[in-house]
Amino acid sequence: MNKGTECVRKILEDHGIPYTCQRGEILSLFIAEPKHYKPNEVFRLLKDKGIGIATVYRTLEILRECGIIIEISAGRDVFYRMKKPESNCIYAHFLCDVCGKIYDCLDSGAAKKCSDFFDLLENSMDMTIKDVNITIKGLCNECKNKEGG
Ligand SMILES: [Zn+2]
Repeated sequence: MNKGTECVRKILEDHGIPYTCQRGEILSLFIAEPKHYKPNEVFRLLKDKGIGIATVYRTLEILRECGIIIEISAGRDVFYRMKKPESNCIYAHFLCDVCGKIYDCLDSGAAKKCSDFFDLLENSMDMTIKDVNITIKGLCNECKNKEGG
């Protein structure tokens, strides 16, 4: 077993999921190229390895349930991507209305302000926020420039 496989197996087992080749292949995809995947994209990339669409859906669900990947709903589409341990709580995504691309919003200043906002909310409403999933919609930089010029 090579090092990559060993690492994937460890992630799965740390989350209480028994390792199977198919789960390993799907998780490896997310690790090898960290981006947002639609289920049918995962299927398309892995169908040569004999992984069916039903297995893709089932595996994504298992990985999401145990917190290895997160699900992002954007309009009619659902995307998945690795959960980033360093940004434990707040995920903001920008969805372009025109080209449909998804961008991570990675502004640490804005994240700090957001996190202050949730702290306030937790205190004033006496509740615990465990996960925040924000989708911001609009016009991305590329499309904005196309439209302007
Ligand atoms: Zn765009």
